[in-house]
Amino acid sequence: MNVTEIKEIKEFFSTPKNVVVVPHRNPDGDAMGSCLAIYHYLGSKGHTVTVVTPNDYPSFLKWLPGSKEAYKFDMQNRQAKGAIDTADVIFLLDFNALHRVGNDMQNTLEKYKGDFIMIDHHQQPDDIAKYLFSDTSICSTCQMVYHFIEKLDDVASINADIATCLYTGIMTDTGSFRFPSTTSVTHRIIADLIDKGAENAKIHNNVYDTNSYGRLQLLGRALSNLKVIKNLKTAYISLTQEDLDEFNFEKGDTEGVVNYALSLDGIIFAAIFIEDVEQKIIKMSFRSKGSFSVNQFARKYFDGGGHDNAAGGKSLISLKETIEKFKSVLPEFKEELLKSYEN
Ligand code: 5GP
Ligand code: MN
Repeated sequence: MNVTEIKEIKEFFSTPKNVVVVPHRNPDGDAMGSCLAIYHYLGSKGHTVTVVTPNDYPSFLKWLPGSKEAYKFDMQNRQAKGAIDTADVIFLLDFNALHRVGNDMQNTLEKYKGDFIMIDHHQQPDDIAKYLFSDTSICSTCQMVYHFIEKLDDVASINADIATCLYTGIMTDTGSFRFPSTTSVTHRIIADLIDKGAENAKIHNNVYDTNSYGRLQLLGRALSNLKVIKNLKTAYISLTQEDLDEFNFEKGDTEGVVNYALSLDGIIFAAIFIEDVEQKIIKMSFRSKGSFSVNQFARKYFDGGGHDNAAGGKSLISLKETIEKFKSVLPEFKEELLKSYEN
């Protein structure tokens, strides 16, 4: 997004517009935080803004200001399509390719005749947006939305709701400010967001300390299913549909579980395999430390992608076969795995 483009965007928003804001499917804290921040920001400038999520999001994000006003494309299809049909512009936040919203919504967005504004920190964004702000070095889309408002010379307009949404996404995408993508700039922005009304302790509590009993029991099962491949510095967790059903699984319950595998001393590559009988897929999350790129690993073998140190993927074969495949391709990466992280 260069100076001319910023000027054009300012000019475009100088009169009231209908705006739709879209996160990826299964939106996480960064996706919801960035969308709702744009919702509050442009709403405060007199625009009509509608957030349309492809599907539902975890209950630990449902307290976010404005989240109740969002439409879910799969559940509130008529309203969602209506908003998209009449949009003057559509923001695509925290994803880099239209297939990330899922088939149905992708079809609708592909027919959309207006312009897209994409703000995202994933690698290799598709060329679909008139205005693209892409930076893979930035920890979160929420930090990029802050920079976007900065580019518009309008940081003074960040109110407590916007600050709360941005704080949440930065916090969740940086593992509470601990991943290497967290910089001094991130901390300065966080400080400013607190000054603008983000209540940090309350936000941490809302996101991390609202577990259900079932979720903790499921975590217990996940930890007892943990397997270690020591000579490849790899650990993985698997959860069957039965495991999920036993503990009344709800969306978001497995979020972050993969990080326990990564927290093992000496482990630099962690994976979780989760069976989803309804969608007939095995959903995977991959995490790494150091130079081993899980983005490349997920792209090559598991129809996925993401970032160098956090990616996801899926497979259509059984859970057992998926884990077999994982174990069989792993030795190919032995050299990279062993040199990835030098203490
Ligand atoms: P998670 O493991 O938390 O679902 O995702 C980790 C990161 O990888 C996120 O940035 C997410 O957007 C991305 N990601 C997850 N699944 C996929 C996928 O199937 N394809 C791509 N391209 N990215 C994914
Ligand atoms: Mn993100």
